[in-house]
Amino acid sequence: MVVNDDDRPIRARGGCLCGSVRFLVRGPLVDIKACHCLICRRLHSYCCAYTACETVDLEIQPSPKLRWYRPSPTSRRGFCSKCGTQLFSFATGRDHVSLMASSLDEPTGLRLVKHICVNQKGDYYEIADGLPQEGGRDPGGWH
Ligand SMILES: [Zn+2]
Repeated sequence: MVVNDDDRPIRARGGCLCGSVRFLVRGPLVDIKACHCLICRRLHSYCCAYTACETVDLEIQPSPKLRWYRPSPTSRRGFCSKCGTQLFSFATGRDHVSLMASSLDEPTGLRLVKHICVNQKGDYYEIADGLPQEGGRDPGGWH
């Protein structure tokens, strides 16, 4: 995460529902994966759609409303303390950060490409869009 006068082009902008927390990305975003793990479903009620960027490409504008929650000792999730929007997920040892796809300003130019952690999906829905499904988390690490 950098907060400086980076002059690389802005790939995407995003933020929370109330606008108190805004960010931008100066670098590529990966296509979207939908995570069905219990943490995501507790936080979002349903699966969560994530994209990701290199950590150094994410610039979070300073905000007194930004808060962090640690669902595990090795991860932290950023959210807006005013409106509650989930925004970022960092994990120890990774060089990328996962971004909630819903936080991006549209058009995103991204596509949903895969479902992950489907072994933890809720019993109240089926995944029927024909996209690839993986039981566990990606080896590369997502959220
Ligand atoms: Zn907010």
